[in-house]
Amino acid sequence: MEAFMLSSRQLRRPAGNICRSCSRRLKLRATRSYSSTSTASTSTSQPDIYDVVCVGGGPAGLSLLAALKANPTTAGLRVALVEAQDLRKLRSWQPPPDRFSNRCSSLTPSSAKFLDRIGAWAHVDRARVQPYHEMQVWDGVSDARIEFDWALDQDAGRAPAGRKIAYMIENLNLTAGLLRRIDELGGVTSFEGAKVEDITFGGETDALDLREWPVVQLAGGKQLAARLLVGADGANSPVRTFAGIDSKGWDYERHGVVATLELEGHGWGGGDDSKIAYQRFLPTGPVAMLPMPGNYSTLVWSTTPANAALLKSLPAKDLVALVNAAFRLSPVDLQFMHTMSSGQEDEVSWRLQHTPVSAPQATPQPVIGVQDGTVASFPLKFRHADTYIGERVALVGDAAHTTHPLAGQGLNQGQGDVEALAGTIEYAVAHGQDLGARMSLEPYLARRYAANHVLMGVVDKLHKLYSVESGPLVPLRSLGLSAVNALAPVKGFFMRQAAGSGGKLF
Ligand SMILES: Cc1cc2nc3c(=O)[nH]c(=O)nc-3n(C[C@H](O)[C@H](O)[C@H](O)COP(=O)(O)OP(=O)(O)OC[C@H]3O[C@@H](n4cnc5c(N)ncnc54)[C@H](O)[C@@H]3O)c2cc1C
Repeated sequence: MEAFMLSSRQLRRPAGNICRSCSRRLKLRATRSYSSTSTASTSTSQPDIYDVVCVGGGPAGLSLLAALKANPTTAGLRVALVEAQDLRKLRSWQPPPDRFSNRCSSLTPSSAKFLDRIGAWAHVDRARVQPYHEMQVWDGVSDARIEFDWALDQDAGRAPAGRKIAYMIENLNLTAGLLRRIDELGGVTSFEGAKVEDITFGGETDALDLREWPVVQLAGGKQLAARLLVGADGANSPVRTFAGIDSKGWDYERHGVVATLELEGHGWGGGDDSKIAYQRFLPTGPVAMLPMPGNYSTLVWSTTPANAALLKSLPAKDLVALVNAAFRLSPVDLQFMHTMSSGQEDEVSWRLQHTPVSAPQATPQPVIGVQDGTVASFPLKFRHADTYIGERVALVGDAAHTTHPLAGQGLNQGQGDVEALAGTIEYAVAHGQDLGARMSLEPYLARRYAANHVLMGVVDKLHKLYSVESGPLVPLRSLGLSAVNALAPVKGFFMRQAAGSGGKLF
């Protein structure tokens, strides 16, 4: 299979109809020099030639490489990874059992199944993964509530025992597991700590015609020519820029504040097998507390940049108080406490004594601490690339789409992209097609674009619907939430959608 793409006869055949006047060139300053874990030649005169060059070793890029190498049809392809970060740290990632990274994702059962199929799930540290099978979601203005629990899904018509809504996993645990799987499979030439400096089209020699092939330039002069260049390089994708693919959207003027929280007692509910995810919609954005192993949880609080700055500046005791307040007190109380530069702990304690908490049994356990160094925030945006493919280019993950985290979709959508792209490449290889030709990549676009677009639209509308504090929308959305909660078949439908294609439904 190694020879599949690399005969000079094939290389000399121009593979696409790229307009030379549209030739795109990306100039990026390199900040670090590359180091390669492979034994590839370091000659700078000729590019090294690969079937697939993947820029980006995040969850999407590493999943794609593992998927290609785990599949006998595509295992023989010449594949390279270019990743700006030094992956040695990831290889030796082994944090203490009671410390959790603040970047966690809710992984759907279908994403977990895909990771299992490519042999990566077995390499994830499962002791650090927390499944949950129940979600409590409620409106902070009206208190209308919806609960998702497989045990209540009578419409499923099958035993729900053991069924998970999703798995909470640290992103580092996932990428470390993927990297172990790739190392086990072998055959990936890895350029680590290697930032892309430039992407151009190749040239022509007696033996090679690379004029329509993307050539990735690394600091130090290394060049990688790609039959297919995959952009798994995140929201500011250099590959997307090279391909001239526009990405449209808007900023939410919201930041997602994350932190690792310590809870009172020994963890939620009846122990590790019955943990619950909580999300409350506040007018400034949703606040979510998602279970991690033991008595830990991860916080994702979407709020205004000013509120986020305050949360990050507070001493731990006041931040803890505000998080507890966010699940218990009224939006008006919360707004007031965001105007205080300190003293939230006493204020929340006093207010809680005078505020009856609705449905205390469906409210998360009190937070008692926050792990040092885990409070951080990320600006939230909506972006969708105009297309995911070009001649010899494909985009996956955040390079293709960025969405609000309120539904826990981003990483899962990236897994869906990777599964579809790996399948598309497999088909092209099995049928002797040029895997980088736009025509070969069309099935990938067809499988993913509309599906992602619909999901992103729903998430965006949810954000907008719940940002409204007063007026006729508030009772209407509450009515909708209560109606769905009362209708077991409708709720079951939503739960199956969430488990299949996304994480937290809301
Ligand atoms: C607060 C928050 C909470 C979230 N919660 C969830 C959740 O619960 N569930 C969920 O599914 N998703 C969630 N997401 C989204 C999820 O984190 C992202 O969708 C996911 O991490 C994207 O993965 P990726 O591999 O596509 O991109 P990235 O993780 O951004 O990886 C891109 C990689 O490309 C590399 N790179 C970039 N430029 C270059 C270059 N020039 N040269 C070389 N390498 C380069 C980077 O170093 C990086 O390693 C959340 C996001 C946020 C902000």
